[in-house]
Amino acid sequence: MAPLKAPATESSLHLVSTMVSKASAVWNLNEALAEFLIHADRELRVEIPLMHDDGRLAVYEGYRVQHNNARGPFKGGIRYHPSVDPEEVHALAGLMTWKSAVVGIPFGGAKGGVAVDPSTLSPGELERLTRRFTNAILPVIGPNEDVPAPDMGTNAQTMAWIMDEYSARRGYSPSIVTGKPLALGGSQVREEATGLGVVQVAKMALQAQKKTLKDQRVAIQGFGNVGSNAARWFDQLGAKVVAISDVRGGRYNPKGIDIHAAWTLIEEKKSLANLKNTDAVTNEELLELDCDVLVPAAIESVIVEENAPKIKAKIVVEAANGPTSLSADRILKERGIEVVPDILANAGGVTVSYFEWAQNMQQLPWERELIVTRLGDVLMRAFKDVERTATEHKTSLREAAFILGVGRVAEAMKLRGY
Ligand code: NAD
Repeated sequence: MAPLKAPATESSLHLVSTMVSKASAVWNLNEALAEFLIHADRELRVEIPLMHDDGRLAVYEGYRVQHNNARGPFKGGIRYHPSVDPEEVHALAGLMTWKSAVVGIPFGGAKGGVAVDPSTLSPGELERLTRRFTNAILPVIGPNEDVPAPDMGTNAQTMAWIMDEYSARRGYSPSIVTGKPLALGGSQVREEATGLGVVQVAKMALQAQKKTLKDQRVAIQGFGNVGSNAARWFDQLGAKVVAISDVRGGRYNPKGIDIHAAWTLIEEKKSLANLKNTDAVTNEELLELDCDVLVPAAIESVIVEENAPKIKAKIVVEAANGPTSLSADRILKERGIEVVPDILANAGGVTVSYFEWAQNMQQLPWERELIVTRLGDVLMRAFKDVERTATEHKTSLREAAFILGVGRVAEAMKLRGY
Protein backbone atom coordinates (compact mmCIF):
# COMPACT_ATOMS: atom_id res chain seq x y z
CA MET A 1 0.00 0.00 0.00
CA ALA A 2 1.36 3.41 -0.90
CA PRO A 3 2.27 5.54 2.14
CA LEU A 4 -0.66 7.66 3.20
CA LYS A 5 -0.48 11.32 2.31
CA ALA A 6 -1.51 13.88 4.90
CA PRO A 7 -5.30 13.58 4.99
CA ALA A 8 -7.39 16.19 3.18
CA THR A 9 -8.74 18.71 5.69
CA GLU A 10 -12.38 17.79 5.02
CA SER A 11 -11.74 14.03 5.30
CA SER A 12 -12.79 11.80 8.11
CA LEU A 13 -9.17 10.68 8.65
CA HIS A 14 -8.28 14.29 9.44
CA LEU A 15 -11.05 14.50 12.03
CA VAL A 16 -10.14 11.17 13.65
CA SER A 17 -6.41 12.03 13.83
CA THR A 18 -7.14 15.44 15.35
CA MET A 19 -9.54 13.98 17.92
CA VAL A 20 -7.07 11.25 18.93
CA SER A 21 -4.25 13.82 19.35
CA LYS A 22 -6.47 16.02 21.52
CA ALA A 23 -7.59 13.09 23.64
CA SER A 24 -3.99 11.89 24.03
CA ALA A 25 -3.07 15.36 25.32
CA VAL A 26 -5.89 15.20 27.90
CA TRP A 27 -4.40 11.91 29.21
CA ASN A 28 -0.85 13.28 29.02
CA LEU A 29 0.18 10.33 26.87
CA ASN A 30 3.76 9.92 25.77
CA GLU A 31 4.27 11.56 22.36
CA ALA A 32 5.28 8.31 20.67
CA LEU A 33 2.24 6.50 22.04
CA ALA A 34 -0.05 9.31 20.89
CA GLU A 35 1.42 9.00 17.39
CA PHE A 36 1.09 5.20 17.51
CA LEU A 37 -2.63 5.49 18.29
CA ILE A 38 -3.22 7.53 15.14
CA HIS A 39 -1.69 4.92 12.83
CA ALA A 40 -2.82 1.40 12.04
CA ASP A 41 -0.91 -1.62 13.35
CA ARG A 42 -1.07 -3.36 9.99
CA GLU A 43 -2.33 -2.73 6.48
CA LEU A 44 -2.82 -5.24 3.72
CA ARG A 45 -3.52 -4.39 0.10
CA VAL A 46 -4.60 -7.20 -2.19
CA GLU A 47 -5.32 -7.60 -5.89
CA ILE A 48 -8.46 -9.58 -6.66
CA PRO A 49 -8.83 -11.00 -10.17
CA LEU A 50 -12.44 -11.61 -11.21
CA MET A 51 -13.64 -13.40 -14.31
CA HIS A 52 -16.91 -11.66 -15.23
CA ASP A 53 -19.88 -13.67 -16.52
CA ASP A 54 -19.19 -12.39 -20.05
CA GLY A 55 -15.62 -13.75 -19.99
CA ARG A 56 -13.98 -10.38 -19.28
CA LEU A 57 -11.15 -10.47 -16.68
CA ALA A 58 -10.88 -7.51 -14.33
CA VAL A 59 -8.67 -6.96 -11.29
CA TYR A 60 -10.07 -5.14 -8.26
CA GLU A 61 -8.14 -3.62 -5.37
CA GLY A 62 -9.00 -4.68 -1.82
CA TYR A 63 -7.78 -3.75 1.65
CA ARG A 64 -7.78 -4.92 5.23
CA VAL A 65 -6.45 -2.40 7.71
CA GLN A 66 -6.01 -3.48 11.35
CA HIS A 67 -5.78 -0.46 13.58
CA ASN A 68 -5.43 -1.66 17.18
CA ASN A 69 -6.09 -4.88 19.14
CA ALA A 70 -5.07 -3.91 22.67
CA ARG A 71 -8.58 -4.60 24.02
CA GLY A 72 -9.49 -7.64 21.89
CA PRO A 73 -9.45 -9.09 18.37
CA PHE A 74 -9.50 -6.60 15.48
CA LYS A 75 -13.11 -6.04 14.43
CA GLY A 76 -14.71 -4.17 11.56
CA GLY A 77 -16.81 -4.27 8.45
CA ILE A 78 -16.04 -4.98 4.82
CA ARG A 79 -17.24 -2.40 2.34
CA TYR A 80 -17.86 -2.81 -1.38
CA HIS A 81 -18.06 0.68 -2.86
CA PRO A 82 -16.25 2.47 -5.71
CA SER A 83 -14.91 5.12 -3.29
CA VAL A 84 -12.98 2.61 -1.15
CA ASP A 85 -9.35 3.77 -0.90
CA PRO A 86 -6.53 3.40 1.66
CA GLU A 87 -7.26 6.70 3.40
CA GLU A 88 -10.94 5.89 3.85
CA VAL A 89 -10.19 2.39 5.14
CA HIS A 90 -7.62 3.76 7.62
CA ALA A 91 -10.10 6.28 9.01
CA LEU A 92 -12.82 3.64 9.33
CA ALA A 93 -10.46 1.13 11.00
CA GLY A 94 -9.49 3.72 13.64
CA LEU A 95 -13.13 4.59 14.26
CA MET A 96 -13.80 0.91 15.05
CA THR A 97 -11.11 0.89 17.76
CA TRP A 98 -12.57 3.97 19.44
CA LYS A 99 -16.15 2.77 19.02
CA SER A 100 -15.52 -0.62 20.66
CA ALA A 101 -13.69 1.11 23.50
CA VAL A 102 -16.47 3.69 24.03
CA VAL A 103 -19.13 1.00 24.39
CA GLY A 104 -16.76 -1.15 26.45
CA ILE A 105 -16.77 -4.33 24.37
CA PRO A 106 -13.62 -6.48 24.09
CA PHE A 107 -12.69 -5.76 20.47
CA GLY A 108 -10.13 -3.65 18.68
CA GLY A 109 -10.63 -1.95 15.33
CA ALA A 110 -10.20 -2.89 11.69
CA LYS A 111 -11.83 -2.24 8.35
CA GLY A 112 -11.68 -3.71 4.89
CA GLY A 113 -13.11 -3.12 1.51
CA VAL A 114 -12.99 -3.59 -2.21
CA ALA A 115 -13.13 -0.69 -4.67
CA VAL A 116 -16.05 -1.97 -6.70
CA ASP A 117 -19.66 -1.04 -7.39
CA PRO A 118 -21.51 -4.18 -6.26
CA SER A 119 -24.69 -3.14 -8.10
CA THR A 120 -22.87 -3.80 -11.39
CA LEU A 121 -22.04 -7.42 -10.46
CA SER A 122 -24.23 -10.51 -10.81
CA PRO A 123 -24.73 -12.73 -7.73
CA GLY A 124 -22.23 -15.20 -9.19
CA GLU A 125 -19.64 -12.46 -9.74
CA LEU A 126 -20.17 -11.16 -6.21
CA GLU A 127 -19.66 -14.63 -4.78
CA ARG A 128 -16.44 -15.23 -6.75
CA LEU A 129 -15.09 -11.80 -5.80
CA THR A 130 -15.90 -12.42 -2.12
CA ARG A 131 -14.28 -15.86 -2.07
CA ARG A 132 -11.12 -14.51 -3.76
CA PHE A 133 -10.97 -11.58 -1.35
CA THR A 134 -11.42 -13.93 1.64
CA ASN A 135 -8.50 -16.05 0.46
CA ALA A 136 -6.37 -12.97 0.01
CA ILE A 137 -6.94 -11.72 3.57
CA LEU A 138 -7.12 -15.20 5.14
CA PRO A 139 -3.60 -15.02 6.65
CA VAL A 140 -4.57 -12.07 8.87
CA ILE A 141 -8.14 -12.92 9.95
CA GLY A 142 -9.46 -15.42 12.51
CA PRO A 143 -12.05 -15.70 15.31
CA ASN A 144 -9.47 -14.54 17.87
CA GLU A 145 -7.45 -12.37 15.46
CA ASP A 146 -9.73 -10.31 13.24
CA VAL A 147 -13.47 -10.70 12.75
CA PRO A 148 -15.06 -9.04 9.67
CA ALA A 149 -18.71 -7.92 9.40
CA PRO A 150 -20.98 -6.30 6.79
CA ASP A 151 -20.73 -2.65 5.84
CA MET A 152 -21.86 -0.62 2.83
CA GLY A 153 -22.45 -2.84 -0.19
CA THR A 154 -22.10 -6.12 1.72
CA ASN A 155 -24.68 -8.12 3.67
CA ALA A 156 -25.45 -11.39 5.45
CA GLN A 157 -24.97 -13.35 2.20
CA THR A 158 -21.47 -11.88 1.78
CA MET A 159 -20.66 -12.98 5.34
CA ALA A 160 -21.97 -16.49 4.59
CA TRP A 161 -19.51 -16.80 1.67
CA ILE A 162 -16.62 -15.54 3.83
CA MET A 163 -17.54 -18.00 6.59
CA ASP A 164 -17.75 -20.89 4.10
CA GLU A 165 -14.44 -20.04 2.44
CA TYR A 166 -12.65 -19.65 5.79
CA SER A 167 -14.26 -22.82 7.22
CA ALA A 168 -13.20 -24.84 4.15
CA ARG A 169 -9.59 -24.03 5.00
CA ARG A 170 -9.56 -23.82 8.80
CA GLY A 171 -12.51 -26.00 9.89
CA TYR A 172 -16.05 -24.97 10.86
CA SER A 173 -15.73 -21.40 12.16
CA PRO A 174 -18.97 -19.43 12.50
CA SER A 175 -17.22 -16.88 14.75
CA ILE A 176 -14.95 -15.77 11.88
CA VAL A 177 -17.58 -13.20 10.84
CA THR A 178 -20.58 -11.48 12.37
CA GLY A 179 -23.69 -10.36 10.56
CA LYS A 180 -24.26 -13.89 9.22
CA PRO A 181 -27.67 -15.29 8.29
CA LEU A 182 -29.51 -16.79 11.29
CA ALA A 183 -29.30 -20.26 9.72
CA LEU A 184 -25.49 -20.11 9.94
CA GLY A 185 -25.21 -18.94 13.54
CA GLY A 186 -26.12 -15.29 13.03
CA SER A 187 -27.72 -13.38 15.84
CA GLN A 188 -31.26 -12.20 16.33
CA VAL A 189 -31.43 -8.38 16.00
CA ARG A 190 -28.03 -8.05 14.19
CA GLU A 191 -29.63 -6.99 10.90
CA GLU A 192 -31.44 -4.06 12.52
CA ALA A 193 -28.99 -3.46 15.40
CA THR A 194 -27.22 -0.38 14.04
CA GLY A 195 -30.46 1.37 13.09
CA LEU A 196 -32.10 0.41 16.38
CA GLY A 197 -29.05 1.65 18.31
CA VAL A 198 -29.14 4.95 16.41
CA VAL A 199 -32.72 5.49 17.56
CA GLN A 200 -31.99 4.44 21.16
CA VAL A 201 -29.07 6.89 21.30
CA ALA A 202 -31.11 9.67 19.62
CA LYS A 203 -33.75 9.15 22.31
CA MET A 204 -31.12 9.54 25.05
CA ALA A 205 -29.74 12.71 23.42
CA LEU A 206 -33.25 14.15 23.23
CA GLN A 207 -33.94 13.18 26.84
CA ALA A 208 -30.80 15.06 27.87
CA GLN A 209 -32.48 18.12 26.30
CA LYS A 210 -35.75 17.31 28.13
CA LYS A 211 -37.42 16.20 24.89
CA THR A 212 -38.95 12.92 23.73
CA LEU A 213 -39.03 11.25 20.33
CA LYS A 214 -42.72 12.03 19.93
CA ASP A 215 -43.35 14.14 16.82
CA GLN A 216 -39.66 14.98 16.33
CA ARG A 217 -39.16 15.64 12.61
CA VAL A 218 -36.37 13.36 11.40
CA ALA A 219 -34.49 13.54 8.07
CA ILE A 220 -32.43 10.48 7.14
CA GLN A 221 -29.83 10.37 4.37
CA GLY A 222 -29.33 6.80 3.12
CA PHE A 223 -32.01 4.10 3.16
CA GLY A 224 -29.79 1.02 3.30
CA ASN A 225 -29.36 -1.31 6.24
CA VAL A 226 -28.80 1.45 8.79
CA GLY A 227 -31.03 4.21 7.42
CA SER A 228 -34.07 2.02 6.70
CA ASN A 229 -33.98 0.30 10.09
CA ALA A 230 -33.48 3.61 11.86
CA ALA A 231 -36.46 5.01 9.92
CA ARG A 232 -38.64 2.09 10.97
CA TRP A 233 -37.73 2.43 14.65
CA PHE A 234 -38.13 6.25 14.64
CA ASP A 235 -41.55 5.74 13.08
CA GLN A 236 -42.53 3.01 15.54
CA LEU A 237 -41.51 5.10 18.53
CA GLY A 238 -43.59 8.11 17.51
CA ALA A 239 -41.15 10.35 15.66
CA LYS A 240 -42.09 11.75 12.24
CA VAL A 241 -39.68 10.76 9.46
CA VAL A 242 -39.99 13.67 7.01
CA ALA A 243 -37.21 12.80 4.53
CA ILE A 244 -35.31 9.75 3.33
CA SER A 245 -32.92 9.15 0.43
CA ASP A 246 -30.77 6.69 -1.44
CA VAL A 247 -27.84 7.23 -3.78
CA ARG A 248 -30.17 8.51 -6.54
CA GLY A 249 -31.87 11.20 -4.43
CA GLY A 250 -34.38 11.83 -1.68
CA ARG A 251 -38.11 12.07 -0.94
CA TYR A 252 -39.70 14.64 1.37
CA ASN A 253 -43.04 15.13 3.08
CA PRO A 254 -43.13 17.62 5.98
CA LYS A 255 -46.17 15.79 7.37
CA GLY A 256 -44.30 12.48 7.56
CA ILE A 257 -43.44 9.63 5.18
CA ASP A 258 -45.13 6.22 5.09
CA ILE A 259 -42.07 4.16 6.07
CA HIS A 260 -43.79 0.84 5.47
CA ALA A 261 -44.48 1.93 1.86
CA ALA A 262 -40.85 3.02 1.47
CA TRP A 263 -39.61 -0.39 2.64
CA THR A 264 -41.94 -2.16 0.21
CA LEU A 265 -40.85 0.07 -2.67
CA ILE A 266 -37.15 -0.51 -1.98
CA GLU A 267 -37.70 -4.26 -1.72
CA GLU A 268 -39.69 -4.41 -4.95
CA LYS A 269 -38.14 -1.69 -7.12
CA LYS A 270 -34.75 -1.04 -5.44
CA SER A 271 -35.52 2.69 -5.67
CA LEU A 272 -37.45 5.33 -3.75
CA ALA A 273 -38.19 7.32 -6.90
CA ASN A 274 -41.97 6.73 -7.05
CA LEU A 275 -42.76 6.96 -3.35
CA LYS A 276 -46.34 8.26 -3.07
CA ASN A 277 -47.21 11.54 -1.30
CA THR A 278 -43.62 12.80 -1.34
CA ASP A 279 -41.65 15.41 -3.28
CA ALA A 280 -38.20 14.89 -4.72
CA VAL A 281 -35.20 16.49 -2.98
CA THR A 282 -31.52 16.06 -3.71
CA ASN A 283 -29.21 14.45 -1.16
CA GLU A 284 -27.64 17.89 -0.62
CA GLU A 285 -31.03 19.55 -0.02
CA LEU A 286 -32.04 16.82 2.42
CA LEU A 287 -29.21 17.77 4.76
CA GLU A 288 -30.43 21.37 4.92
CA LEU A 289 -34.16 20.64 5.41
CA ASP A 290 -36.16 22.17 8.23
CA CYS A 291 -36.20 19.30 10.77
CA ASP A 292 -35.37 18.50 14.41
CA VAL A 293 -33.07 15.50 14.01
CA LEU A 294 -30.73 14.93 11.07
CA VAL A 295 -29.41 11.40 10.56
CA PRO A 296 -26.68 11.01 7.93
CA ALA A 297 -26.74 7.23 7.28
CA ALA A 298 -24.90 6.85 3.97
CA ILE A 299 -21.32 7.92 3.27
CA GLU A 300 -18.46 9.99 4.74
CA SER A 301 -17.87 13.72 4.61
CA VAL A 302 -21.35 14.91 3.68
CA ILE A 303 -21.52 17.66 6.32
CA VAL A 304 -18.63 19.94 5.46
CA GLU A 305 -17.54 23.56 5.92
CA GLU A 306 -19.77 24.74 3.07
CA ASN A 307 -23.13 23.35 4.21
CA ALA A 308 -22.62 23.26 8.02
CA PRO A 309 -23.84 26.87 8.39
CA LYS A 310 -27.07 25.89 6.59
CA ILE A 311 -28.02 22.84 8.69
CA LYS A 312 -31.34 23.51 10.41
CA ALA A 313 -31.64 20.40 12.60
CA LYS A 314 -31.12 20.83 16.35
CA ILE A 315 -29.42 17.45 16.74
CA VAL A 316 -27.25 15.51 14.28
CA VAL A 317 -27.07 11.78 15.00
CA GLU A 318 -24.20 10.26 13.03
CA ALA A 319 -25.47 6.89 11.84
CA ALA A 320 -22.85 6.79 9.06
CA ASN A 321 -19.16 6.61 9.87
CA GLY A 322 -17.35 9.93 9.47
CA PRO A 323 -20.17 12.00 7.93
CA THR A 324 -18.93 15.30 9.41
CA SER A 325 -15.63 17.04 8.67
CA LEU A 326 -13.58 18.69 11.41
CA SER A 327 -14.35 22.21 10.20
CA ALA A 328 -18.07 21.41 9.96
CA ASP A 329 -17.94 19.92 13.46
CA ARG A 330 -16.55 23.22 14.78
CA ILE A 331 -19.26 25.21 12.97
CA LEU A 332 -22.05 23.00 14.34
CA LYS A 333 -20.60 23.32 17.85
CA GLU A 334 -20.49 27.13 17.55
CA ARG A 335 -24.08 27.11 16.32
CA GLY A 336 -25.20 25.09 19.36
CA ILE A 337 -26.20 22.05 17.29
CA GLU A 338 -25.62 18.87 19.29
CA VAL A 339 -23.72 16.19 17.36
CA VAL A 340 -23.97 12.62 18.63
CA PRO A 341 -20.74 11.19 17.20
CA ASP A 342 -20.57 8.06 15.05
CA ILE A 343 -18.46 6.16 17.58
CA LEU A 344 -21.40 6.34 19.97
CA ALA A 345 -24.42 6.74 17.68
CA ASN A 346 -23.83 3.74 15.41
CA ALA A 347 -22.18 1.45 17.98
CA GLY A 348 -25.32 -0.73 18.19
CA GLY A 349 -24.02 -2.73 15.22
CA VAL A 350 -20.68 -3.69 16.71
CA THR A 351 -22.33 -4.32 20.08
CA VAL A 352 -24.70 -6.93 18.66
CA SER A 353 -21.79 -8.25 16.56
CA TYR A 354 -20.03 -8.85 19.86
CA PHE A 355 -23.17 -10.65 21.15
CA GLU A 356 -23.16 -12.78 17.97
CA TRP A 357 -19.46 -13.63 18.38
CA ALA A 358 -20.05 -14.52 22.05
CA GLN A 359 -23.01 -16.75 21.10
CA ASN A 360 -20.86 -18.52 18.46
CA MET A 361 -18.01 -19.00 20.94
CA GLN A 362 -20.47 -20.45 23.50
CA GLN A 363 -22.46 -22.36 20.83
CA LEU A 364 -25.50 -20.97 22.63
CA PRO A 365 -28.05 -18.72 20.89
CA TRP A 366 -29.66 -15.92 22.91
CA GLU A 367 -33.32 -14.88 22.73
CA ARG A 368 -34.31 -11.69 20.91
CA GLU A 369 -35.60 -9.95 24.07
CA LEU A 370 -32.32 -10.57 25.90
CA ILE A 371 -30.35 -9.04 23.03
CA VAL A 372 -32.57 -5.94 22.75
CA THR A 373 -32.34 -5.40 26.53
CA ARG A 374 -28.57 -5.92 26.65
CA LEU A 375 -28.06 -3.60 23.66
CA GLY A 376 -30.09 -0.89 25.40
CA ASP A 377 -28.05 -1.38 28.61
CA VAL A 378 -24.69 -1.14 26.80
CA LEU A 379 -25.69 1.99 24.85
CA MET A 380 -27.22 3.66 27.91
CA ARG A 381 -24.04 3.09 29.94
CA ALA A 382 -21.88 4.35 27.05
CA PHE A 383 -24.07 7.44 26.58
CA LYS A 384 -23.87 8.27 30.30
CA ASP A 385 -20.08 7.73 30.31
CA VAL A 386 -19.69 10.09 27.33
CA GLU A 387 -22.06 12.68 28.81
CA ARG A 388 -20.21 12.61 32.16
CA THR A 389 -16.84 12.95 30.41
CA ALA A 390 -18.16 15.89 28.36
CA THR A 391 -19.32 17.66 31.53
CA GLU A 392 -16.06 16.91 33.35
CA HIS A 393 -13.84 18.18 30.52
CA LYS A 394 -16.27 20.83 29.20
CA THR A 395 -16.17 19.36 25.70
CA SER A 396 -18.55 18.27 22.95
CA LEU A 397 -19.90 14.71 22.98
CA ARG A 398 -17.46 13.85 20.18
CA GLU A 399 -14.38 15.07 22.05
CA ALA A 400 -15.64 13.30 25.17
CA ALA A 401 -16.15 10.01 23.31
CA PHE A 402 -12.57 10.16 22.00
CA ILE A 403 -11.22 11.02 25.48
CA LEU A 404 -13.02 7.97 26.84
CA GLY A 405 -11.98 5.65 24.01
CA VAL A 406 -8.33 6.74 23.89
CA GLY A 407 -8.08 6.48 27.69
CA ARG A 408 -9.37 2.90 27.68
CA VAL A 409 -7.13 1.75 24.82
CA ALA A 410 -4.04 3.44 26.31
CA GLU A 411 -4.74 1.79 29.67
CA ALA A 412 -5.00 -1.65 28.03
CA MET A 413 -1.74 -1.06 26.16
CA LYS A 414 0.09 0.00 29.30
CA LEU A 415 -1.19 -3.03 31.25
CA ARG A 416 -0.24 -5.46 28.47
CA GLY A 417 3.16 -3.84 27.98
CA TYR A 418 4.07 -2.09 24.77
P1 NAD B 1 -25.96 0.12 2.74
O1 NAD B 1 -25.10 -0.19 1.58
O2 NAD B 1 -26.92 -0.89 3.24
O3 NAD B 1 -26.79 1.47 2.45
C1 NAD B 1 -26.18 2.65 2.05
C2 NAD B 1 -27.25 3.65 1.65
O4 NAD B 1 -26.61 4.88 1.27
C3 NAD B 1 -28.07 3.22 0.44
O5 NAD B 1 -29.39 3.70 0.56
C4 NAD B 1 -27.36 3.91 -0.73
O6 NAD B 1 -28.21 4.11 -1.84
C5 NAD B 1 -26.99 5.23 -0.06
N1 NAD B 1 -25.84 5.89 -0.69
C6 NAD B 1 -24.72 5.34 -1.23
N2 NAD B 1 -23.91 6.29 -1.74
C7 NAD B 1 -24.54 7.47 -1.51
C8 NAD B 1 -24.24 8.82 -1.81
N3 NAD B 1 -23.13 9.14 -2.48
N4 NAD B 1 -25.11 9.79 -1.40
C9 NAD B 1 -26.25 9.47 -0.74
N5 NAD B 1 -26.60 8.20 -0.45
C10 NAD B 1 -25.76 7.23 -0.82
O7 NAD B 1 -24.94 0.58 3.92
P2 NAD B 1 -25.19 0.59 5.48
O8 NAD B 1 -24.72 -0.70 6.03
O9 NAD B 1 -26.56 1.08 5.75
O10 NAD B 1 -24.11 1.68 5.94
C11 NAD B 1 -24.41 3.08 5.90
C12 NAD B 1 -23.40 3.81 6.77
O11 NAD B 1 -23.50 3.33 8.12
C13 NAD B 1 -21.93 3.65 6.38
O12 NAD B 1 -21.25 4.84 6.70
C14 NAD B 1 -21.46 2.54 7.32
O13 NAD B 1 -20.06 2.58 7.52
C15 NAD B 1 -22.22 2.89 8.56
N6 NAD B 1 -22.36 1.80 9.50
C16 NAD B 1 -22.97 0.64 9.13
C17 NAD B 1 -23.13 -0.37 10.06
C18 NAD B 1 -23.87 -1.64 9.73
O14 NAD B 1 -24.12 -2.43 10.66
N7 NAD B 1 -24.28 -1.87 8.50
C19 NAD B 1 -22.62 -0.22 11.36
C20 NAD B 1 -22.03 1.00 11.71
C21 NAD B 1 -21.91 1.99 10.78
